[in-house]
Amino acid sequence: MKTCIFCQIAKGKIPAQIVHRDDKTIAFLDSQPKSAGHTLVIPREHFTSLLDIPAGLLADVVQSLQKVAQNINKQLKPDGFNICQNNGAFAGQTINHFHFHIIPRYQNHPPINKKDFLVLAKKLTNKK
Ligand code: AMP
Ligand code: ZN
Repeated sequence: MKTCIFCQIAKGKIPAQIVHRDDKTIAFLDSQPKSAGHTLVIPREHFTSLLDIPAGLLADVVQSLQKVAQNINKQLKPDGFNICQNNGAFAGQTINHFHFHIIPRYQNHPPINKKDFLVLAKKLTNKK
């Protein structure tokens, strides 16, 4: 979908700190992170929410979600993490392209700045 920012990221037309990609999905750092390593996992194809994404593609996204969470856990060693998935504006969905959030949680929560953001992206990128 031309007007969708996540479709544009998936097509490489808008820059993002991409930490995982395969033929069906991509994952990239959230531009307004709630914690260090806050990552979004999306299908490349546009679906709005849990209600319209085909079950097979949902399974692919969940598989990527697990891989990316495992990588975050290994590289950043958070004390835990939340998986969130918002459906509908009233539930806090601001981008109408289906996505999961991975939000790492740390006992000692250091503030993040732009420099850390790039270091985090490098640590999490699968191009090592
Ligand atoms: P939600 O509120 O569940 O729809 O989450 C949308 C998320 O997308 C928010 O946490 C935003 O910070 C994030 N976001 C919006 N635009 C971008 C972007 N261009 N690159 C990375 N993350 C983005
Ligand atoms: Zn889209």
